[in-house]
Amino acid sequence: MYPELFDKLIEHLRRLPGIGEKSAERFAFFLLDQDEEYLTEFGNTLYDLKDKIGFCPVCGFISDKNECELCKDENRDRSKILVVSYSKDVIAIEKTKAYNGLYHVLNGVISSKKGIYPDDLNIEALLKRIDGEVKEVIVATSPTFDGETTALYLDKILNSKGVLVTRLASGLPMGASLDYADELTLIKAMNNRRKFEG
Ligand SMILES: [Zn+2]
Repeated sequence: MYPELFDKLIEHLRRLPGIGEKSAERFAFFLLDQDEEYLTEFGNTLYDLKDKIGFCPVCGFISDKNECELCKDENRDRSKILVVSYSKDVIAIEKTKAYNGLYHVLNGVISSKKGIYPDDLNIEALLKRIDGEVKEVIVATSPTFDGETTALYLDKILNSKGVLVTRLASGLPMGASLDYADELTLIKAMNNRRKFEG
């Protein structure tokens, strides 16, 4: 019923998480109402996204493809590396202000169901970072089945490097994504982190 281009816009918007037909339509009409300057700026940002945004070569956090601000920060405790699955988990932990060490982002979790194996994740770069300066690696993957599988795998390979490997304490709801946990729960889980069993 709509012009072809407008239908296409609605289709694009529908792909966004949590957006249904009605919302996509509403957003499309909202965009149509905006001035050309805004729309050009919006379009250019999307156009540049894949080209200009990538990952920090050291830790895997989202960056302009150069070393990120977290890695460059001289005031951080370089004896600890906290490992998470996604960049948004770093933001969740940063918000708690309870951690001042370094980070490492795997950009995924091991999942045999989805065919994601250790080689598909940013693990090689993590192993390279384990030098004499790093004393503890805190594994903070989500308490889901895949998150646990990933944590156990990391524990196994990191142990052979002679570094202390710890896991965030339970208390995080099983199956919950890390960035959905409230700050207090995250702080508690961090303060009560434990060594792997077995
Ligand atoms: Zn970095």
